[in-house]
This record gives sequence, structure tokens and C-alpha cells, in this order.
Amino acid sequence: MNKIINIIRKGKLVAFCGAGISSESGIPTFRGKGGLWEKYDPYLFAAQDSFNNLLLTNPFSLRDFIVDIYKTILLAKPNHAHSSLAHLENIGLLIGIITQNIDNLHHEAGNKEVAEIHGNAYVFLCKKCGYKTKKKKEEIENFIYNIKKENRKNKLIRKLLSFIGTCPRCDDRLESGVVFFGQELPSKEIEKSYQYINQSLTMLCIGTSAEVYPAASLPYYAKEKGLKIININPMINRLDEIADFSIHEKAVDFFKEIMTYFATDTYKNL
Ligand code: NAD
Repeated sequence: MNKIINIIRKGKLVAFCGAGISSESGIPTFRGKGGLWEKYDPYLFAAQDSFNNLLLTNPFSLRDFIVDIYKTILLAKPNHAHSSLAHLENIGLLIGIITQNIDNLHHEAGNKEVAEIHGNAYVFLCKKCGYKTKKKKEEIENFIYNIKKENRKNKLIRKLLSFIGTCPRCDDRLESGVVFFGQELPSKEIEKSYQYINQSLTMLCIGTSAEVYPAASLPYYAKEKGLKIININPMINRLDEIADFSIHEKAVDFFKEIMTYFATDTYKNL
């Protein structure tokens, strides 16, 4: 652990995060027990055009999926691993976070430099003109409350459509800001990710199985660029093969161990 603390103290860190960092905030991982995908087929519910297709064929199951996903995300609060990353950015050691998560928890924890390569569940955008808007928690809570008990098909469809809304600039229908299977990753977020990596000396990989491509190629790019890789994950996974250090612990436990060394900005004098 001393070696890792010294590497972190040198700064120029980039974090590459996956669902595991949010599991201790109550959001199940993609493949983990109790995950959303035990109940819903990801290739049906998280595929390109799934919203349009399900809206026509089965708006009730689309509604149940939306309610389940937002209920979990709305209840979640940043945990100690999220807040530690915010602190590391504050004291100038962390350049940025590349996250595969859509839960907004890095922003809630206070990080400013975040590349959301799979989008954000609160964001809605216009594919035609590029307009982007971020809904407030209360707006989504009200919407969930509003659709939860709706049992008239046409009314439900209208409610779903009006929540997503239309673009105030070009009147096209807005779409979820989450990246679904088969969709391209947002180019701005990818550019930001490369910028973070290119400025960094070390990548902290936290809570990712690195099974979902193209996102999973980023640690390999970082390794090629000469960054040290520190992999934090309670389970053995494929990033262990390229990691300089593998810590088989939960993210919160890892940060509890190391953050005492970085509790204030006087850490440099230790
Ligand atoms: P994954 O589910 O494939 O892998 C999660 C990894 O986290 C596993 O290797 C697991 O061992 C590890 N893990 C579990 N608990 C942990 C903990 N407490 N501390 C550290 N690690 C822990 O997730 P992935 O690699 O992010 O890929 C899944 C995809 O699903 C992503 O693209 C992501 O967009 C999406 N997803 C997002 C969320 C979210 O926004 N919170 C949740 C589920 C899935």
C-alpha cells in the first residue's frame, strides 16, 4: 500500500470507473446479483431504438423499466469512493474521471472534470441540432409518480412522450442522453477521455469488469501510453493482466485505507 500512496501523492491521476464504484451506493452492477438485467433483457430494453419500439409494442413494460431504473438512481447518494475522487480533484491530484456510469454520482460528489462516455440518465438531447438539457431530480420524481399507476395505454404513451419532450430550438423529439447498445459513444466525452489520459501518469480503474467495448479499450490505451494501472475490484478480472497493482477490495474500503494520507492539502509535507 505504501507504494500506491506514493504514486497517488505524485498526482496526475485519471480514474476509469464502472458500475462497481456505485454498488455501495445501492445501484446494482450490470452483471451482479439483483441487477436490472436479471429482470429486463438488455438487448430489448437498452438497445438503440428500444424506446420507440417498446412505446409502440409494449408501453407498460417500457414504463416498468423506466420506473425501476430511475427509482434506483434517484435514491442513490455518492459514497466514500465518489467523495474521495472529488477530494483528490480538489487538492489537484486527479485530472479527471472517465466514467461508464450514467448515475450522475460523480457530479453529485463534486467532481468537475468528468467524461461520461455512456451518457447521463438526467440528460436529454436533440440528435438533430445538438441541444442538450439536464432534468432536475424533482422533475424525474414527479414523472415517475405520474406514470407509475397509469393503466390507460394511450394516456401512458402521451405521458412518456411529453416527459421526454421536444427540442426548443428545432422542435425535433428529444432522446435520452444515455448511450444504448449499438449507439456510438459521444465524441466530446471520448475526446475529453483521451485528453485526461494523455496528461496523466496513473490510471485508477475502479469497479469495472472491462467487458463493455469500446469503453474497455481505454485502460489498454493508457497502458500503451505508459501510465501505471492500479486496478481496484474485489473480483479477479481481465484488467489484472495489465495492472501494475491489483487491489482486490471494494472501492469504499480501498479509499478508507488510503484517504487518511490525503485528508488535508498539507499531505505534500508528510
Ligand atoms: P460490470 O457490471 O460489468 O462490472 C462491475 C464490476 O464492479 C465487476 O467487475 C465487479 O466485480 C466490480 N465491483 C462490484 N462491487 C464493487 C465494489 N464495491 N467496489 C469495486 N468494484 C466492485 O460494470 P461495468 O464494467 O461498468 O460495465 C457495465 C455497463 O453497465 C457500463 O457500461 C455502465 O454504463 C452500465 N451500468 C451503469 C450503472 C451505473 O450507472 N451505476 C450500473 C449498472 C450498469
